Amino acid sequence: MPKALIIGGGVAGPAAALFLQRAGWEVEIFEAREAPAAYGGLFLNVATNGLAVLDILGLRAPLVADGHACPRMVMCSGRGRVLGVVPNGPAADPARGSVVVRRAHLHEVLRRGVADAGIRYTSGARLQRIEEQGDHVIARFADGTRVEGDVLIGADGIGSVVRTTIDPDAPAPAPSGLISIGGFARVPGLAPTPGEQYMVFGAKSFFGYLVRDDGTAYWFANVTASASENSRGAVGAVAAEEWVARLQALHADDPYPVPQILAHVVGEVGAYPLADLTHVPHWHRDRLVLLGDAVHATSPSAGQGASLALEDAISLAAHLRDDGGYAEAFAGYERDRRPRAEEVVSYARAVNRHKRVTRSRAGIALRDAMLPMFLRRAASDTRNDHLYNHVIPW
Ligand SMILES: Cc1cc2nc3c(=O)[nH]c(=O)nc-3n(C[C@H](O)[C@H](O)[C@H](O)COP(=O)(O)OP(=O)(O)OC[C@H]3O[C@@H](n4cnc5c(N)ncnc54)[C@H](O)[C@@H]3O)c2cc1C
Repeated sequence: MPKALIIGGGVAGPAAALFLQRAGWEVEIFEAREAPAAYGGLFLNVATNGLAVLDILGLRAPLVADGHACPRMVMCSGRGRVLGVVPNGPAADPARGSVVVRRAHLHEVLRRGVADAGIRYTSGARLQRIEEQGDHVIARFADGTRVEGDVLIGADGIGSVVRTTIDPDAPAPAPSGLISIGGFARVPGLAPTPGEQYMVFGAKSFFGYLVRDDGTAYWFANVTASASENSRGAVGAVAAEEWVARLQALHADDPYPVPQILAHVVGEVGAYPLADLTHVPHWHRDRLVLLGDAVHATSPSAGQGASLALEDAISLAAHLRDDGGYAEAFAGYERDRRPRAEEVVSYARAVNRHKRVTRSRAGIALRDAMLPMFLRRAASDTRNDHLYNHVIPW
């Protein structure tokens, strides 16, 4: 039985392991982090197309059991005016909309799926180096251990070591100019937002929130970054309380319940500089291949990063099952996936342009006048439906 070493136990790695096992491969997952955290990584949107992949794995039901169904996004101006309601899923079929979940819950559902399938998942295994030797590949880890396999799958996220092993000149992620800060809150008396997530074009920063049936608010803000803030190190050096204080000032004049949410933050606050990879020239080389954020990281503005990672997993496994050998399979996988992944990354990049702060009063007035026209069309615009309706059969 051929063996695949899977580097990264986030989203793409466990999903690829589950599909590859079904395709008759022996698989093993190596994850750098020691232990998961219940609220680590905050929350994310699993889109209709990602849910379709989880469905094939039998993991859709456990995921949505702790999710906030979110087929609609309500777009508001900084004065509290509803600018429009846009579908978060296929416009022609709102019942098949997307779901917002804690990222840790998505990881937990995938990890449980992997454990139930008897797949080995090693935590605290940080890949350091890869050696390729004729008919096999060797992964060397920071703790000195080594493992051999027939192929190595780099599902190691945006800072991928596998990407730079495949091509030392691979592009580095491009900063978007936005920092995403997010967390949770409990505001007394704040009503749930069933089926909806609200997006507010605040005067000084973009803000999104939803309120679950139990009253917990999930919130995030996209702050326009200064040049010195545009790195993970710089963002990580700022304490959570400092971010919250800064957001309270930026959103002080925004409509209810934005200031109230920021006044009642509970638990972890996360901050990330948003970056993406629009075009990675080499998706594979010899026995090495990339998937998920490692090869097409997208900023969250399309709500598609996790769903693309799930799609990559099923696509790669189907090619390894059906094509002649790994070289043909990797080429077929890239052929199928590259155009779609690059389209989504570019789309998310275009959305980011609307989120950057327009500082002048005239700019804000123009944006608030133009957006309703754009959003009215978007509510029934089916041009994005192909993003959600994409199906990769197994
Ligand atoms: C603020 C923010 C909000 C987001 N919101 C959304 C959203 O709403 N919807 C959406 O679909 N996507 C969203 N995303 C993107 C989404 O999280 C990613 O696209 C998705 O997690 C990609 O999955 P992945 O498996 O490719 O990478 P990851 O989930 O990043 O997993 C990579 C894994 O590899 C591990 N790893 C890294 N290096 C090594 C190494 N050397 N050795 C071993 N293991 C290693 C990491 O620890 C990690 O667990 C968001 C991202 C951010 C930053």
